[in-house]
Amino acid sequence: MAGRHIDMTRGETQGERPIVVVGGGLAGASFALGAARFGYRVVVVEARAGASDGGFDARSTALSWGARRIFESLGVWERLGAGPCPILRIEVTDRGHLGGVSFDHREQGLDALGYVVENHALAKVLQGRIAACGAIEFLAPADVTAARPIAEGMELTLRQGGSGRRLTAALTVLADGGRSPIAASLGISRRRKPYGQHALVANIALETSHRNTAHERFTPHGPLAVLPLPVADGVHRASLVWTLPGAVAEQYAALPEDLLLPRLQGEFGPGMGRVTAIGRRVCFPLQLSQASEQVRPGLALLGNAAHTLHPVAGQGFNLALRDAMALAEALGDAIGQGRSPGDLAVLQDYLERQEFDQDRTVFLTDLLVRLFSGQSAAKAAFRKLGLLALDLLPPLRTQFVSNVTQQQHALRR
Ligand SMILES: Cc1cc2nc3c(=O)[nH]c(=O)nc-3n(C[C@H](O)[C@H](O)[C@H](O)COP(=O)(O)OP(=O)(O)OC[C@H]3O[C@@H](n4cnc5c(N)ncnc54)[C@H](O)[C@@H]3O)c2cc1C
Repeated sequence: MAGRHIDMTRGETQGERPIVVVGGGLAGASFALGAARFGYRVVVVEARAGASDGGFDARSTALSWGARRIFESLGVWERLGAGPCPILRIEVTDRGHLGGVSFDHREQGLDALGYVVENHALAKVLQGRIAACGAIEFLAPADVTAARPIAEGMELTLRQGGSGRRLTAALTVLADGGRSPIAASLGISRRRKPYGQHALVANIALETSHRNTAHERFTPHGPLAVLPLPVADGVHRASLVWTLPGAVAEQYAALPEDLLLPRLQGEFGPGMGRVTAIGRRVCFPLQLSQASEQVRPGLALLGNAAHTLHPVAGQGFNLALRDAMALAEALGDAIGQGRSPGDLAVLQDYLERQEFDQDRTVFLTDLLVRLFSGQSAAKAAFRKLGLLALDLLPPLRTQFVSNVTQQQHALRR
């Protein structure tokens, strides 16, 4: 049974004690909007000043068609304006092998295979929606420094502007990133699988238009992705995610532009045209990391706090967004059932809804990393065969694309 939606600007609210979201990054902010739709009073506590984009770096996020539908339902999509760049074509190639596979939106009967949005632009719109929503209180900069389970839910200790206070939450949602010290303090451990790779992330300028094409190139070091961005000040731009061994990524991050560009061009080949400039570079160590528990009475983990994925398939945030909406919907259902949002049965119901999606996304992402990194002859042969098969077998192509664009999240409302 679906709970009814509430006008988010009017501030009609459910229950005495709020839902407290620890972390106002992309996952936490999206969840807060989803929960407020059902009339919950939500307090978001964010350590940085304002909604965070995960560090205000040059990162962009490839959003699936399903993510677009979710953001439409939250009133976020239309406010992004011309910001999201549609991906009309995906070119997948393997360095050292001729040819490759390409996917076209027309072949799949979609307006676009996905969209690329700059994190800072998305964070700004989420922040605007939160500010306009009477049911959400956004505390920033403020830290949650401790959490203690109590009969009513969770008692949280907050530090804001040099002073501390306590807050009782009916449900605490930890969206505080991949390290999640609060989860650790509650005895929730993490399974970690480091990939021994870093992602070097930067915006790049291209001599000619990218024609809305995303490139994924598999190299012996690991995958290299170039995602199309809208033209800015007459410059053709794209977002680069270059997977490299840690030491090489750090070295490349510090290299003068005139030395780095030929290496990038050499790795990529002529397929995407000439790269004329590279912007600020940031490195991220890559790992698969999963919390050993995602729900407890009065507690749920979301986003990177629940599972941090390799960016190879651009699935981390898309999955976090589907989780966030499924959790909000389970909380919406709890209202009709007369249950508290912190009720373990409600939270388990959420996890059951999302378990298959989470397992499949984590498995496929990890498989891609393992198959498409490395220089062994067996892997190279597999990649070649895999690309050939994708090129020749239409049903396999459709399956692959639906994994990339995936989950036309069947919004129930
Ligand atoms: C290189 C790279 C490329 C990526 N590309 C894609 C892509 O194309 N598509 C995709 O779907 N995903 C992608 N991802 C994954 C995506 O970036 C993450 O899934 C997303 O950022 C998750 O955000 P989050 O809100 O869970 O965590 P974070 O962004 O880490 O936010 C956590 C927030 O919590 C706050 N915080 C922490 N502790 C506290 C505390 N105690 N009190 C208060 N606040 C606290 C922090 O300040 C921060 O703002 C990529 C990831 C990387 C590294």
